[in-house]
Amino acid sequence: MLFYDPLFLLFIIPTIVLGFIVQSAVKSKFSKYSKVKTYRGLTGAQAAREILDANGLYDVRIEEATGGLLSDHYDPRTRVLRLSSEVARYPSVAAVGVAAHEAGHALQHANNYFPLQLRSSLVPAVQFGSRLAPWIILGGILLQSLMGLTQLGFVIAWVGIIAYGAVALFSLVTLPVELNASARAKKLLYQYNIVDKSELNGVTAVLNAAAWTYVVAALGAILQLLYWIIRLYGRRR
Ligand SMILES: [Zn+2]
Repeated sequence: MLFYDPLFLLFIIPTIVLGFIVQSAVKSKFSKYSKVKTYRGLTGAQAAREILDANGLYDVRIEEATGGLLSDHYDPRTRVLRLSSEVARYPSVAAVGVAAHEAGHALQHANNYFPLQLRSSLVPAVQFGSRLAPWIILGGILLQSLMGLTQLGFVIAWVGIIAYGAVALFSLVTLPVELNASARAKKLLYQYNIVDKSELNGVTAVLNAAAWTYVVAALGAILQLLYWIIRLYGRRR
């Protein structure tokens, strides 16, 4: 029934379209700067190692990610930095930019950067909320409209909305975490002479494009939250 609701489509289609635009921008920037070799010639894995070691993080391991293009991430539970082969093995501006960004997450973790801690603490709520919240809200609305259980349905729907609120909060907290990791990456790549001034512009272009994907994700989560609230109050009348 959700997908026949014009209001739902109105809220969801813009973020799907924006998501496609932003994704293709990331891919095109990445592929453009993958072809630009850095003057120092460090691969992504070497650049990340240099940044980690310079900050005393000798025990953070670097592994190759299995998820393919742009599957790069830092895993705080195992303290492993996983880099895609395009990043790990090549000495390009794009590769050192992405690798340094992921090393930035490892530094955040080591420094107890608060937004990262908050984000990690929200993970269980997000796993619950992203799967079940829409069904709880719909259940509450159905109790109200079909069974006349106005009070009970209202309370249940709000439990779902709060659960979905955790998803929206998570996507918002992700923004400072990602922007800060990119800021650290740019500063340290230049400071450690892994890139020069002009290469730094390429790094900035790649990381800025990637940052927009998180902005669009946050926008999508907030719009969905708004949709559910409007939907609940629309039914009350
Ligand atoms: Zn990141």
